[in-house]
Amino acid sequence: MIPYGKQQISQQDIDAVVDVLKSDFLTQGPVVERFEQALAAKVGAHYALACNSATSALHIACLALDLGPGDWLWTSPITFVASANCALYCGAHVDFVDIDPATFNLCPKQLEQKLILAEQQQRLPKVVVAVHMSGQSCDMQAIHALSLRFGFKVIEDASHAIGARYNGEMVGGGRYSDITVFSFHPVKIITTAEGGMTLTNDAELQQKMHLARSHGVTRDQQLMECESHGPWYYQQVSLGYNYRMTELQGALGLSQLPKLGQWVEQRDALAQRYDEKLKHLPLILPHRADNCKSAWHLYVVQVAKEKRKALFNALREKGVGVNVHYIPVHLQPYYQKMGFAVGNYPNAERYYESAISLPLHPQLTDAQQDHVISVLEEALHG
Ligand SMILES: *Cc1c(COP(=O)(O)O)cnc(C)c1O
Repeated sequence: MIPYGKQQISQQDIDAVVDVLKSDFLTQGPVVERFEQALAAKVGAHYALACNSATSALHIACLALDLGPGDWLWTSPITFVASANCALYCGAHVDFVDIDPATFNLCPKQLEQKLILAEQQQRLPKVVVAVHMSGQSCDMQAIHALSLRFGFKVIEDASHAIGARYNGEMVGGGRYSDITVFSFHPVKIITTAEGGMTLTNDAELQQKMHLARSHGVTRDQQLMECESHGPWYYQQVSLGYNYRMTELQGALGLSQLPKLGQWVEQRDALAQRYDEKLKHLPLILPHRADNCKSAWHLYVVQVAKEKRKALFNALREKGVGVNVHYIPVHLQPYYQKMGFAVGNYPNAERYYESAISLPLHPQLTDAQQDHVISVLEEALHG
């Protein structure tokens, strides 16, 4: 089976992890900090904080923004469930904003309309999670302008978009948001097996996330509520978790990071090759938005909904590991029990009925890609 996504591990990566295994620190050592600093420098953010997953990173981002009971978090229904669940972990409510059918990203016009209504009902969100679907940035300037007008905070869920650019700048630099989150799950652009990262330019948010990542415990006298008892002393000043990344994972991430640019280029070249070779087929191909350079986590095509299942099955039968990203979050049983229903977000639902993610990763060979293309041709024209 040609997988839709796959990690790339070099001997250098393996050596970096083995070196950590032979070192003094398997966790809480120097390597994770080096990974954080390298990634912050790469994307142009002041601070970075590594976590054991992007899901944990989203949770501590919400905590740092003081999301809690009675508050609302809004996000896109076309995302992985974690982008919404982070609100529920904090006891807050979730609501969704329908997508722009061209980009599959949260639609700023619908966001504006929903904000105007919410203001009248005094139900404005505290946080909006902008998900960069498939690796292409949301319209962050528009979302940022709305955040200033309506007073909400913005988290970029850039799990798909490490290495992507918006207005010429790396996603993660935080010009238009408060916190950005990356994922290092093996299907994403670079991997630490499991892992995630928060990025911010705000020292206070960084400090809050740092506490939340590690039990709410500090050894920093300035954060303590009374004088230290001595050099052994630590104090718990808030309720935190253990969301730390191990040194093994940090070493893998640090070793993978220099290849980010090259891998995004390779993904882009493969995407262009799909564009070229699929344009004669009855498919809607990915739209390239202005000012965006996608990291190409996913290459999503859309087909007439009555043909989707047969096409999906034909591809799988011929060894093409296609997938569907995503089942709209509001259609999950857990969310339906909270009151969401079919028909709430028609663009998201239409998109879901027609989408297929084709294999895309740097190791995909031209021959494998040609096989994917010929199976598509056969199924759609044969
Ligand atoms: C993968 C992903 C996550 C979760 O990432 P983990 O590192 O697996 O926790 C969150 N949001 C989106 C959009 C993702 O694709």
